[in-house]
Amino acid sequence: MSTPDNAPEGLTEARMRFIYTLRSRGVTDARVLSAMERIDRRDFVTGIFSDRAYEDMPLPIACGQTISQPSVVALMTEALQVGPRDKVLEVGTGSGYQAAILSQLARRVYTVERHRPLAREAQKLFDKLGLTNITCMISDGSYGLPDLTPFDRIIVTAAAEDPPGPLLAQLRVGGIMVVPVGQSDTVQTLIRVVRTETGYDYEELRAVRFVPLVEGLGH
Ligand code: SAH
Repeated sequence: MSTPDNAPEGLTEARMRFIYTLRSRGVTDARVLSAMERIDRRDFVTGIFSDRAYEDMPLPIACGQTISQPSVVALMTEALQVGPRDKVLEVGTGSGYQAAILSQLARRVYTVERHRPLAREAQKLFDKLGLTNITCMISDGSYGLPDLTPFDRIIVTAAAEDPPGPLLAQLRVGGIMVVPVGQSDTVQTLIRVVRTETGYDYEELRAVRFVPLVEGLGH
């Protein structure tokens, strides 16, 4: 496929359409759009679905999990309001795509995954792409990473019935957490939590659908 004359350098027509779709779905933050221009979703989708990497839909990855829909990745990243000095925790590495987007906006990204093969593949990909500010860890992310607390931002990319208590506790005052909340087999609500001096403010953002946050380690 040829690159049109007015395309940002190296961006194929398919990737330009991808960015256009994100804009048409309401993504306006220039920093988020530019991060999504720089990170190629195709690197994160392997096998028979790689041809569909630029479509705005979730796709299957290994271990029965999914890479999230790009417009949802973009809107969650926007809602997180990540700054260049932020230390971010992501729960649910999956393919590593969301972490890679965050790596473009934050100082440091810690991402945790309960399935060892997914974590290994994601870390390999981060190394290959030179995304040196991401660290991938294998653990049950519902407990966060107590040794690295507090976090400026926390993003959970699997649905919990309630925002996990340990994660709320690991958010710094003034910090923001974005988490899908609800039963796993129904439509869930994306929640933004802001930690204040005295407690937590909750705001409902939109309906989403994620795989469940599962306890313990996977295979
Ligand atoms: N952010 C991912 C999408 C992940 S799908 C991406 O960009 O591709 C959700 C992921 O959360 C799955 O890989 C699943 O294994 C993981 N997960 C579910 N419960 C978890 C838990 N308690 N701790 C860590 N990871 C968990």
